[in-house]
Amino acid sequence: MYRIGQEEVEAVQRVIESQTLFRRGNPEAGHQQAVVNFESALAEKLGVSYALCLSGGGSAALTCALVGLGIGPGDEVIIPAYTYIATAAAVLSVGAVPVIVDVDETLTLDPQAVLQALTPNVKAIIPVHMVGRLANLEALLEIAKEHGVKVIEDSCQCDGGSYKGRRTGSWGDAGALSFNDFKIISCGEGGALVTNDKNIFERALAYHDSLVSFPHFGEDLSIPAFLGSQMRASEIQGAILGVQLQRLDGILADLRRIRKRFENELGDVLQVAPNNDFEGDCGVVVAFQFDEEAKARAFAKQAGGWLPIDTGRHVYSNWDMLIDNRVGHHPDMNPLNHPKNQHLRIRYSADACPRSLELLGRTVFISINPDWSEETIAQRIEQCRVA
Ligand SMILES: *Cc1c(COP(=O)(O)O)cnc(C)c1O
Repeated sequence: MYRIGQEEVEAVQRVIESQTLFRRGNPEAGHQQAVVNFESALAEKLGVSYALCLSGGGSAALTCALVGLGIGPGDEVIIPAYTYIATAAAVLSVGAVPVIVDVDETLTLDPQAVLQALTPNVKAIIPVHMVGRLANLEALLEIAKEHGVKVIEDSCQCDGGSYKGRRTGSWGDAGALSFNDFKIISCGEGGALVTNDKNIFERALAYHDSLVSFPHFGEDLSIPAFLGSQMRASEIQGAILGVQLQRLDGILADLRRIRKRFENELGDVLQVAPNNDFEGDCGVVVAFQFDEEAKARAFAKQAGGWLPIDTGRHVYSNWDMLIDNRVGHHPDMNPLNHPKNQHLRIRYSADACPRSLELLGRTVFISINPDWSEETIAQRIEQCRVA
């Protein structure tokens, strides 16, 4: 859905001509500082203190957020039944255990189900703003505060979205954005961690850089150094993302305008799915709900829509690797085998969250293209009306 063109070509050209593709550059020598500049612009746009761009995508951002919070073996992390499998994989990547919890009618994490799933082992919850639609952050943050658990927003499908007028990613202890090929803005592959917490940021900074080139980032860590991984973003990614970020609000404005037209013009004949914030919703899709799956399927076929239940690894029941305990590259590095995790909820099954499956099976999404002409919009709305 991203828009890309000549401005990105020129930004990449400037990086190549500067002869420095590594993010550590010298502005006096004409290096672009593209990643650093992107991080500053992103932090400013989202209203957060820190942003860290990552070559490893939204997955890396989630991992860095978990690392930042010190989460590991012995800890459970609540995630929704409707999210991309990457959310679960990130939790497992730090040695912790994902606990899959139902979504509500908004198809985002159900606060009531979270309350019921809380135990002293739960250290964090990850609300996911799926297909640009907002999770119920207000209720979830209140629960988190009351029970002393952390909140990481998975905003990978919601780059630039807002909840109650404030951007997603800025509400929780940390947020993760993705810039892979399917997202609202993109550099092919890439992601960003955002946070207001210096400790989370510094731990993420150390982890993402194997501590090899760290001193050149020009900041002294105030935490003990540790050896991590390698997820540094390149100047090519930074150059593209710098331009993409400037396009973001224009894309969102067009998506939202089109989504509202669908909702306004079809609200009398179709049931618009409940939404935690119609204003902040990115407008990636317009969502309609039906009282049964057969009706949803018939409508989707006629209207050119799709059912979230059909989207493979975005639905927990299709996470066969987790259900079959095929996790990690080595049995001793599989968190589900870790001694500290044996008393946690490490058994997964496809029928654990039937309510989520039922809801995902009677919802229809119509994907919106921000570049649709007025004629196409009118025609697509009419196609929904007669369906
Ligand atoms: C895309 C996505 C991710 C991970 O993003 P990558 O950039 O592919 O690592 C995580 N969570 C959700 C909900 C996503 O859609």
